[in-house]
Amino acid sequence: MRFPASLYISLTKCFVKNAVSGRKRFPLVLMLEPTHRCNLACAGCDRIRLHDDMQSADLSLEQCIASVKESDAPVITVTGGEPMLYKDLVPLISELLRMKKQVYFCTNGLLTESFIEEFTPNPSLTINFHLDGLEASHDSIVNRSGTFRKTVETIKLAKQRGFRVSTNTSVYKNSDIKELESLFELLAGLNIDGTLIAPAFSYESVGNDIFLDKKEIHKKFTEMAAFFKKFPFMNSPLYVDLLKGEKQMQCTPWGNPTRNPLGWKSPCYLITDKYYSSFDEMMEKTAWERYGSGNDPRCENCLVHSGYEASVMRTAFANPKDLLRLLLWNFSSR
Ligand code: SF4
Repeated sequence: MRFPASLYISLTKCFVKNAVSGRKRFPLVLMLEPTHRCNLACAGCDRIRLHDDMQSADLSLEQCIASVKESDAPVITVTGGEPMLYKDLVPLISELLRMKKQVYFCTNGLLTESFIEEFTPNPSLTINFHLDGLEASHDSIVNRSGTFRKTVETIKLAKQRGFRVSTNTSVYKNSDIKELESLFELLAGLNIDGTLIAPAFSYESVGNDIFLDKKEIHKKFTEMAAFFKKFPFMNSPLYVDLLKGEKQMQCTPWGNPTRNPLGWKSPCYLITDKYYSSFDEMMEKTAWERYGSGNDPRCENCLVHSGYEASVMRTAFANPKDLLRLLLWNFSSR
């Protein structure tokens, strides 16, 4: 199977519970950002800019746990900023696992060695490393030489210690397909458990010409179509169809809500129009119909997985053929 059995159990329970209660909009993945502090300043990231603008304090451990309970999402992505700079990372992840959550801990890999040495591997915990290319490209995107080598060494250590390991790659205008193929070959050789790939989102605050528009996304991902059969991707086949331009979907921004030091971010992980102090308020007061392709010009080129993987589930439940395809994909390793 492509994911741990505990993930399927958690998601099934979540769907059944919400179907029984008649709740139409509910989250699958909470994007929890306990800190916006980071030890890198990546070209395509707006979080460092948010922190610089607002000088926001980190969330407390209690605020993190309360937010997890508020959202009731079965999957928690601990991201940031760099979570290794968050002083309560170990108690936070321990508590999330105790709460039977599926945890994805996203890191740039520079400081992660101490976590790997201290923490006990758990099938419900995946360490997700950021890698956008081979050495020269990745180090240039993250603005620090030596990052690629250190991250690869840390991935090897994590695998030796028995952790589930995945990687996350953003695709930019100048990402080279041959180079990405070499990166995925290298990662498959390290026996990682999965890879995520998505077009980078064009944040207004980042404001430079490194992002792909929708046509360019379709072209690039069509050229990469063979990768999805060759490497252990965690992108579902329906989402890959969307990236290739072979399927249309509306986004599901409430599927991956974001809680960070500034509050509950509305409407989504990518656009920030307002912060709310509670999850319920964010769900009730966000005018969801104003967002998505055709409704908001900022959404026109967005095809990121945090906006669309929940749409994949909605699409699959509405079409038995798509559902069967998704099930078969889940039971395969490629
Ligand atoms: S399409 Fe717009 S609202 Fe939907 S996830 Fe993307 S940026 Fe957010």
